[in-house]
Amino acid sequence: MSSVQCVLGIESTAHTFGCGIVSSDRKILSNIKSEYTPKTGGIHPREAGQHHTAEAPKAIMESLKGAGLKISDISAVAFSAGPGLGPCLRTGATAARILSLISAKPLVPVNHCIAHIEIGRMVTGEEDPLVVYVSGGNTIVSAYSGGRYRIFGETLDIALGNCLDTFARSVGLGHPGVPKLEALADEGKEFVPLPYVVKGQDMSYSGLLTTAIRKSKICDLRDLSLSLLEVAYGMLAEVAERALAHTEKPSLLLTGGVARSVRLQRILKSVCSEHSARFYVVPPELAGDNGAMIAWTGLLALERGVEVPIEKSLVRPRWRLDEVEIPWR
Ligand code: AMP
Ligand code: MG
Repeated sequence: MSSVQCVLGIESTAHTFGCGIVSSDRKILSNIKSEYTPKTGGIHPREAGQHHTAEAPKAIMESLKGAGLKISDISAVAFSAGPGLGPCLRTGATAARILSLISAKPLVPVNHCIAHIEIGRMVTGEEDPLVVYVSGGNTIVSAYSGGRYRIFGETLDIALGNCLDTFARSVGLGHPGVPKLEALADEGKEFVPLPYVVKGQDMSYSGLLTTAIRKSKICDLRDLSLSLLEVAYGMLAEVAERALAHTEKPSLLLTGGVARSVRLQRILKSVCSEHSARFYVVPPELAGDNGAMIAWTGLLALERGVEVPIEKSLVRPRWRLDEVEIPWR
């Protein structure tokens, strides 16, 4: 029998239900996802949970088939236990508990934010970067120190992706908002003043969003898109730059759904070159929420004996990444 272990990971914190399988020799064997898109407005948690319930069986079967495995070949079942939306998290946790029961394999809880970091370290091979994690629900600058990922800056209110997506929706651009805004911004010429809010090492995006929506009634949308992105990304770059200088990490890793932004990549790359740090970004197919990142982080945790009995496998909608012990580093 080979000593290669395979872990199945379930992601369901927000809009995406994902199921991925990863092996201990660092191969992603499958990574299936299904995304809920609301007809109007933002994510409705109960509707998203219903979407995940409907999609879970197919995604899990396809993931096993894609990896060429049966459920009995799996060494453990990992799931995103938080942070995220309650109804969405509970759907994924229920699916993971059932798989753990029928396979009689350990159940491993994974923090979603840490999974975005670990998949980035895995695919880039970069050991100890400063991490900029930006998505629809999270905006966190963090780095490893003394057994945990520590936070060196985060949003005080809404996430960067949420700010940009909500603005895009309010001016009729639809979803996903960030690439649509970026296309418009490429045609922008004039800078429209907007509130730039960095308090200490933290960012606030809600006032920026409110002002941008108000100004959309009177300003050219191309100019406003350009200005909104410049201010929003500039705030993040300022925080990341100070964190880089303070932690003296040798590199910066950009991860999360908004990591696909070429404009943001360009800005952070220039911050890195000022500080002689290397710049890395997760590949687009692993940037957004996915099951493979949960499987990989679950595998790291499993190798250090992390698992949870079913009766204690509660979800944690507000689980911060700096609460988690990291025994594998
Ligand atoms: P996540 O929550 O990690 O799945 O990421 C979702 C966020 O990624 C949303 O804010 C989207 O607008 C954003 N996004 C989606 N596609 C792209 C893209 N091509 N470039 C930049 N951001 C994107
Ligand atoms: Mg995410």
